[in-house]
Amino acid sequence: MNKRTVVAKFGGTSVADAAQFRKIRDIVLSSPERRFIIVSAPGKRFPGDRKVTDLLLDCYAKASAGEPFTDDLDQIRTRFREILDGLTIEFPLEEELRALEQSLTNKPDKDYTASRGEYLTAKIMAEYLGFTFVDPAWCVCFDEDGQLNAGMTNRTMRASLLPLEHAVIAGFYGADPDGTVRTFERGGSDITGSLAACAIHADLYENWTDVSGLYAADPGIVKEPETVPYMSYRELRTLSYMGASVLHSDAVLSASEMEIPINIRNTNKPADPGTMILRHLPRGVPKNPVTGVSGRKGMSVVQIEKVMVSDGSGFSALMLDILKERALPFEYCLTGIDSITLIIRRDLLDSCKEELFEEIRETLHPDFVGLREGLSLIAVTGEKATESSDANVRVLEKLTGEGIEIVTINQGAGKLNLLIGVPEDRFEDAIRTIYAFRQSIPM
Ligand code: ASP
Repeated sequence: MNKRTVVAKFGGTSVADAAQFRKIRDIVLSSPERRFIIVSAPGKRFPGDRKVTDLLLDCYAKASAGEPFTDDLDQIRTRFREILDGLTIEFPLEEELRALEQSLTNKPDKDYTASRGEYLTAKIMAEYLGFTFVDPAWCVCFDEDGQLNAGMTNRTMRASLLPLEHAVIAGFYGADPDGTVRTFERGGSDITGSLAACAIHADLYENWTDVSGLYAADPGIVKEPETVPYMSYRELRTLSYMGASVLHSDAVLSASEMEIPINIRNTNKPADPGTMILRHLPRGVPKNPVTGVSGRKGMSVVQIEKVMVSDGSGFSALMLDILKERALPFEYCLTGIDSITLIIRRDLLDSCKEELFEEIRETLHPDFVGLREGLSLIAVTGEKATESSDANVRVLEKLTGEGIEIVTINQGAGKLNLLIGVPEDRFEDAIRTIYAFRQSIPM
């Protein structure tokens, strides 16, 4: 393919009503490179509004409990009717909704029901833009066990999209070998966009949302944080894993494997450049070593002590085996000379705490097993920190100077990728402190 191809995914708020559809048309038609468009289902138009996917899931819950679902279905009808009237396009909405109603009445299926928001939105968008509609049930392939078959999806999507000049693809779902509809996790339209971008080897994957890029910190904690102009895939994975949510992490993974740049853009402010996510950051970017800070509350620390933990007898491996057997994930594990520290999500630990400690005592005969709850974890990331940067030390000094207790530290050997455990009640203070301080740290 010689000409540049951009895959553009528009999220729920970008397709929330007819006015948003118009903005999308202006954006798409302003560049012939935007050939493949992925859409979510209409999201919230205002605080307190309901997402179409939530309405659909309510229909399913009621239908499967044998309760009437007409109220929710009517709300869905009204949402789409308003969009169609606002855009003055002909569309067989009643026919489509009848098919949904029949499926809900005869044999309610959760994934099929949930997928209809994207299906209808993509069909309407295709009609509005004059593009071909592509149903992902034909080309996003799931196995019988509900897992995505990435290889087959790649080949099938490529074969479906390459012959087309322009297309609109519904996000969020695909189908298994029987043709039964399967959905991704919530927020999964990002994944569809990324799969499409990978399948056609797009030059760019644009992800259009309602913010002008990724913030350097959570705007719920820091007032009006800056948006980050450039970020690496790795930095983004760290920040989103630790709580920053703009893009589904699986979407980042596949785009990063193919090195397809991702540009987060704002449908309501299309002139803003947004955040560009790349493998390698351009020269001279950024100006200071900390790209962003994010974190999560609700962590517990398990401390196991035994003289000679690290004598090569496989104590740590045994400990990790115990967690593996219980399918209990941990955030990280630090091994010291005579101790192991595990950070585990409290909600996961709580359900098996007693038995786990019992097993540790019986299997490992430790000198001491301790538990500390009420911890939060903070990720400070910056891929461009130079080898000589002491940003990590400065951040820790600053926190201590503010009287914030540092419970754990995890600093890998890579670039700046520091995980700090602080008490939950100082979480917000710690994020604000690091955010404000970051610009005064030299490279
Ligand atoms: N509509 C789905 C959801 O609300 C998927 C998506 O928007 O990406 O989660």
